[in-house]
Amino acid sequence: MSKNATPNISSLSLASTESHCCWYCGRGENALPTKLQKCTRCGLAVYCNRECQRGDWKLHKVKCKRLTEIIVDTDVKNRLRSGALKRRLLTLSEGTVILSIRDPDITTIGDMNLAYERLPEAPFFKCKSLLHVDLKGCTKLTSVGDGAFCGCSSMTSVVLPDSLTQLSNNAFFRCSSLVSVVLPDSLTQLGNWVFNGCTSLTSVVMPDSAELGDEVFFYCDALLQKAALAGFDSVELYLRDRYISITLRKLVLRLLRKYNQAVNNADGTEVDKHATALALFPAHNSGSLEVGLFLQKMNVSGGDGVIGLVGYILEFV
Ligand SMILES: [Zn+2]
Ligand SMILES: [Zn+2]
Repeated sequence: MSKNATPNISSLSLASTESHCCWYCGRGENALPTKLQKCTRCGLAVYCNRECQRGDWKLHKVKCKRLTEIIVDTDVKNRLRSGALKRRLLTLSEGTVILSIRDPDITTIGDMNLAYERLPEAPFFKCKSLLHVDLKGCTKLTSVGDGAFCGCSSMTSVVLPDSLTQLSNNAFFRCSSLVSVVLPDSLTQLGNWVFNGCTSLTSVVMPDSAELGDEVFFYCDALLQKAALAGFDSVELYLRDRYISITLRKLVLRLLRKYNQAVNNADGTEVDKHATALALFPAHNSGSLEVGLFLQKMNVSGGDGVIGLVGYILEFV
């Protein structure tokens, strides 16, 4: 590839931890060339483009006008513990609630030692009205307790905060509509059967640091199928490989952004600009560190879709 070629990065999609994701394809705003567009009828559903909106309409039209947004930002602990929030959710129709919990002090949602037979006491046990859950506003949340979202069978997505370290046993047991989940890099522990029976789950971004309990992905039919098709013996091995590839993509994008910025700031002909940008890389400490990490990862796995970019970048490092 020529040094003057502008790399095409639009084909790369990054799993996103943004709370705003397309309701159809799950891509976040930071992975898209434009802002997400709202459904004009309900003002709640968001899509990357008309195609995604059309794709989702068959499902969305059933609920569009009945969708309710519930924001819980006062008396959160008490409303969870007393079951007040659950009782309210249980009165609403299936898959109609977008729930945001915003409490900068709460550290745990649910109970970390709830016996299996007491799971019905969990804060969102069988709350079938839940469609989307956003916990991003709980900035000190470290753990989600036993069976917290057990049986939330209409819930298609959940946004977890970057402070989270632990998902306890059965936390998302039988969330059979859950399609994708991004586990934050802070997560170190997934208890037993956390995603057991999440039959629609197709995409999980699972950080390197995560230790897995027993049968975390038991009966995750869609994921099992994907792992098998990709030639992996287990979902865990498949997801760990995916993570390396996602991390690489992020790194490649970050490097490219820095490099392009340096080219834009430089003077002279195109060739001069690239030479100047290239010269900046080893001199810049954080840049060099990223390049080093990047090269280390490169030895582990090429990752799909990155090979072309890697060739391009290797010319400059
Ligand atoms: Zn989309
Ligand atoms: Zn709508």
